[in-house]
Amino acid sequence: MEPKQEHKLISRADILLIVGIMILTIAGLFVWKKLQKPGAYVDILIDGTSVKTLQLDKDASYEVMQEAGVNTVVVQDGSVTVQNADCPDKICEKHQAISQTGETIICLPHKLVVEIKE
Ligand SMILES: [Zn+2]
Repeated sequence: MEPKQEHKLISRADILLIVGIMILTIAGLFVWKKLQKPGAYVDILIDGTSVKTLQLDKDASYEVMQEAGVNTVVVQDGSVTVQNADCPDKICEKHQAISQTGETIICLPHKLVVEIKE
């Protein structure tokens, strides 16, 4: 083994490559952040009709009472979840918290849609 090769200096091309990758990474993160912008409020719809909106920057809970049943929409730390639902499948309750514009939690048995909007 030749020690000279191990101590080879980083070439100009290597530096350009590293800088290029860094710029691409930062640009990529920037674009990602732009696309993934946090929503401003959550719209609660029953059968396609908006019944209530809640601001995402304020912790709150709203009980959606219908003949079909109850869902409680909870806003906490900018994320929205559905709790205390009495629907048979509980899919809305099991859904992970949503916080980005366009994300939804849907409760089919109750025709309930919780959607983040900007
Ligand atoms: Zn449900």
